[in-house]
Amino acid sequence: MTTLVMKFGGTSVGSAARIKEVAHIVESRQGAKRVVVVSAMAGVTNSLFEMAEAARGHNLDKALQFLSRIEQTHLEASRSLEVATPDLIGQIKEIVENLQRRIHGIDLLGELSLRTMDEIASAGERLSSILVAGFMGCPLLDARHVIRTDSHFGGAHPKLAAIKKFTALHLAPLLESYDVIVTQGYIGSDDANDTTTLGRGGSDYSAGLLGAAIQASEIEIWTDVEGILTADPRVVSAARTVEILSYDEAAELASYGAKVLHPATVRPALDAGVPVTIRSTFKPNGMFSTISPGESSGRPCVAIAMRRNVVILSVTQESMTDQAGFLAKLFDIFGRRGISVDLVSTSEISVSVSLDRNAPLEALTQELEKLGKVSIASDRAVIAVVGDLLRKTPEVLHTTFVAIDGIPVDLISMGANAINLSFIVQEQDAERVMRSLHTAFFEGGTQ
Ligand code: ASP
Ligand code: MG
Repeated sequence: MTTLVMKFGGTSVGSAARIKEVAHIVESRQGAKRVVVVSAMAGVTNSLFEMAEAARGHNLDKALQFLSRIEQTHLEASRSLEVATPDLIGQIKEIVENLQRRIHGIDLLGELSLRTMDEIASAGERLSSILVAGFMGCPLLDARHVIRTDSHFGGAHPKLAAIKKFTALHLAPLLESYDVIVTQGYIGSDDANDTTTLGRGGSDYSAGLLGAAIQASEIEIWTDVEGILTADPRVVSAARTVEILSYDEAAELASYGAKVLHPATVRPALDAGVPVTIRSTFKPNGMFSTISPGESSGRPCVAIAMRRNVVILSVTQESMTDQAGFLAKLFDIFGRRGISVDLVSTSEISVSVSLDRNAPLEALTQELEKLGKVSIASDRAVIAVVGDLLRKTPEVLHTTFVAIDGIPVDLISMGANAINLSFIVQEQDAERVMRSLHTAFFEGGTQ
């Protein structure tokens, strides 16, 4: 029998009605063993952080108000789901009472360690998972028994070998007897059995780790959009779902702010050969994206991305006599200031780089003037055509240049990994360029 890991984010378990929908979707995968990984109900993790902060600031009333709201949310959902048995209510109350004791402790000491914060933050997933498992009538596995991490509280690193071992010990036997198991995303424990978290948004990471450990046939990441899109739909109304893409392409798109999924979190799964799909709970039978464990999507262009708020800084050498070491000196200055350079273009006597608008431009200019004449062009945007085989595909270059015909372009760079052709335009032209590239590549263009 195949095994699926199905992960549901905060919005997907955000209310009783949404949880019913989750149960529906899980049900639709009958015939497979299913490990259901859930996030905290939407907004709850934030509230837990605010609650703890309020306690640290000796604002006890406010902290207790946060707690009472969290308690009410879960109790109400349990009633709507008709699972408010004394046992289930008891489990919720136990977590709430524990939080209450911690709040008093933090208030007393005025101190909040990362370790305590992780214990508190874990309550969100522990509470939501009680509701989901209760409603689906299936066993709940405490993820802390399986997801072993180091003790880097607030953003712990998983220990893959240990996770594999504990999965075989605790999860595999459960899956022998039951078709569906519910567990929590985001949380784990260290060697001392203290609760840890994988960092905000860490539930995808949990799903990836579990999927790798049990060698799932697929990891389904259920969220509120139909996968990764060919462009930002606020800019390009014809944007549509990218059906298949590689890890590198997904990572490239994420660096441009495609926030659907942080691809690094599913790296362990892809390394283990497990594909990851991104699907919408609002349209369970709609489109979805697959991040394939293979090397490449095989598609010359999978999506077009844009980043605004960019400036171009150029340094032009005044004399040609001092060429050796020019680039080294230049990048040393960026490096020492911890400034990350995005695109680079060089010619014999000048170098241009793109930087975030918020980089310390004045100080940087002063220092760089030792090397040459510095000029800055602001109000720029980077546009990237992301896909595979760019290097081998003259059509991509052709299509791109035809689509941006007549638009002034400042700088062009082709990523060394050949999955990214980027160029910089004036911010006022950016949206128009996005639309015309999208038309060319996806609406009856070359593919
Ligand atoms: N509940 C956690 C957070 O909001 C983890 C997650 O949702 O992935 O950061
Ligand atoms: Mg969340």
